[in-house]
Amino acid sequence: MADVYLIGAGPGDPGLLTVRGRELIETCDVLVYDYLANAEFLDYAKPGAEIVYVGKKGGDHTLPQDKINELLVAKAREGKTIARLKGGDPYVFGRGGEEAEELVAAGLTFEVVPGITAGVAAAAYAGIPVTHRDHTTSVCFITGHEDPTKEASGHNWEVYAKSTSTLVFYMGVGNLPMIAERLIAGGRDPKTPAALVRWGTRCTQRSMVATLDTVADEAARQGFKAPSIIIVGGVCALHDTLGWFEKRPLLGKGVVVTRAREQASGFADLLRDMGACVHQFPTIRIDPLPDYAPVREAVAGLDAWDWLVFTSVNGVRWFWKILEEEGRDARALGGRKVAAIGPATADALRERGIVADFVPEKYVAEGVVAGLRALGVGAGTRVLIPRAEVAREVLPEELAAAGAEVRVLPVYRTGLNEDGPEALTARLEAGDIHCVTFTSSSTVENFFALVPPEVLRAHPGVRLASIGPVTSRTLARFGFTADVEPADYTIPALAAALAKAL
Ligand code: SAH
Repeated sequence: MADVYLIGAGPGDPGLLTVRGRELIETCDVLVYDYLANAEFLDYAKPGAEIVYVGKKGGDHTLPQDKINELLVAKAREGKTIARLKGGDPYVFGRGGEEAEELVAAGLTFEVVPGITAGVAAAAYAGIPVTHRDHTTSVCFITGHEDPTKEASGHNWEVYAKSTSTLVFYMGVGNLPMIAERLIAGGRDPKTPAALVRWGTRCTQRSMVATLDTVADEAARQGFKAPSIIIVGGVCALHDTLGWFEKRPLLGKGVVVTRAREQASGFADLLRDMGACVHQFPTIRIDPLPDYAPVREAVAGLDAWDWLVFTSVNGVRWFWKILEEEGRDARALGGRKVAAIGPATADALRERGIVADFVPEKYVAEGVVAGLRALGVGAGTRVLIPRAEVAREVLPEELAAAGAEVRVLPVYRTGLNEDGPEALTARLEAGDIHCVTFTSSSTVENFFALVPPEVLRAHPGVRLASIGPVTSRTLARFGFTADVEPADYTIPALAAALAKAL
């Protein structure tokens, strides 16, 4: 075990953190991070871990470097293990070398976890391989923002200009006119392709290509600011052919996910894969019931039922939790028929060893009733429905009307999650949100309990996406029309419909 881990957090895409980096974030006592390290990684920290933000945005350091060094030393001396997260790679213009020297001087042990540096990753995500046999035999990482207190420049512009290297400038946007001028003055062809990539690998990535003699004006005209990587060399000409990331259908679109956190990850991942900037706003919280005695009794007497009908993934999860606590497994359902309201619920059952006997074509309660009746559910059939405490009563009522003996078995409850409506409102005001998604009636109801309808009405450009007609009807009750509603009432269909609409 080392005292301090200098960890490269990668360029921004959360998938580009190393396995070792994640492992250490999960186990360290203190997490020290700066502005370029993705804040999502803080979620990996263990409960109770201390989290310290030390800033660093251009020159305006929230904590000056010497104070960061002191902090690392002081925390390590308290006997805590420290994960020091730095954007990209810690040793590529990250001052990681200086921090490591301080640690050695203080007699502390440290390890370095290299990260994917922005100069390589942002380029790759913009369709620019930093080396390519047809264009260059070397690549050079250069700071575009030399320490202003340094007397003589460490740069040899002549050498950069005359080399055939791909030149990758970090922190260079402010000095771009000077950089281009010096390279041309030193003898580089003014028509050499030059590119900028801002916020590379993130959902907000933007890139552009010009030539050395036009790149500074073009970057200013298009509003390119820090943090951007500047790439100079023939490889930049591949940008249009090899670009892939910016072709994602939802790139840069702010999409709000209102599902409960426990359920949101699949949908959020899908949206991210399509390029969206996902804003999690879990309106619903899934809570346990205060008393599980009725569920335990039901689990002991499953033989009494002909059918078990599961209406949500959470219903399956909580039912199974109690089943397992009672020392039982899938065999407890042996001989029972099992229905799932949709494919996600069916998958949850399959993971637990049960292949549903019935999954309706239309994933709403009415579809389940019709399908079950067709399978002979009627007078005298005994049906158990493990589900949320409060839910639509159509399913039990219709089955009862068909003559079945129905019991609703609450296995969890949903509550209003009151975290963070201010943050969402601020995002709406800032124009970061392009779409709000609703995946059930209760997400609509809870959303408007947290964010007054007037707030949404004040942003008519924000599109509303609903998973199906029932949810859309609930939206209508609040005076809104769903702009997007997939033909198939599933999460993947909703994501696809959104990509089309936006
Ligand atoms: N250690 C970091 C670099 C830190 S210096 C690394 O290895 O990537 C900060 C500079 O890195 C920024 O000014 C910018 O030029 C570049 N940079 C960092 N992340 C970036 C990103 N996601 N997109 C574009 N440039 C980025």
